[in-house]
Amino acid sequence: MLIVMFIGGIILGSFYNVVGLRVPQSSSIVFPNSHCPACYQNILYRDNIPILSYLLLKGQCRQCKNKISLVYPVIEGLTGILFVFATYKMADFNLFSSLTLISLVILITITDIYYYIIPNKILVFFMIVFIAIRLSQPLDPWYDSFLGFLVSYLLIYLLIILSKGGMGAGDMKFLAVLGFFTGLKIVLLGFLIAIMCGGLYGVYLLVIKGNKRNDLLPFGPFIGFGVLISYFYYDAIISFYITELVRL
Ligand SMILES: [Zn+2]
Repeated sequence: MLIVMFIGGIILGSFYNVVGLRVPQSSSIVFPNSHCPACYQNILYRDNIPILSYLLLKGQCRQCKNKISLVYPVIEGLTGILFVFATYKMADFNLFSSLTLISLVILITITDIYYYIIPNKILVFFMIVFIAIRLSQPLDPWYDSFLGFLVSYLLIYLLIILSKGGMGAGDMKFLAVLGFFTGLKIVLLGFLIAIMCGGLYGVYLLVIKGNKRNDLLPFGPFIGFGVLISYFYYDAIISFYITELVRL
């Protein structure tokens, strides 16, 4: 089961790479075939095997020897690992719901890293899937979905007004869609994790790499993975936090 989920995960991860790169450019997901972004040669089917082809080709295009972005195999591997993780956790978390959440986070990670965009098309698609999921498995109480959606939206809306940048409308809609799925408390903890990790990464870029303060930092991946961590580990994080506080 775990091996099947890993293979399924890396194949879907490879598909998500294509979707994430093409949807923001409004090009078709199915046509044309994958091609090398440097020499525009079509990529042969045998060179299009997730992870394996990257390793066999040593990260270079077969024709022009141009470097292939490391993002492709990393996304494929990450999707595979997260799918295995969701399967491992399926006693406590509905597997289909977990896989849907992971897929959304992976897709937004790709589009935000490459284009600094969180496409409405992807958000609307997943919002519809999440509504279907929550109609059959409502949160307790059912209106927690609406609280999660509204508070997330307003929270980032306020931050955008107060900070004049840093976060965008895409982040706002993305967190709201996640909040609809997870409910209020999980999305808030997820957002807190995202702010802390994003802040640390921002400091790292400023201090170690010497970036300018106004360099763009894609915040979508932090939101996505923050909420993913909160979704799977909310109880563990809160009880750890409470016991540590009690000890103090
Ligand atoms: Zn090439």
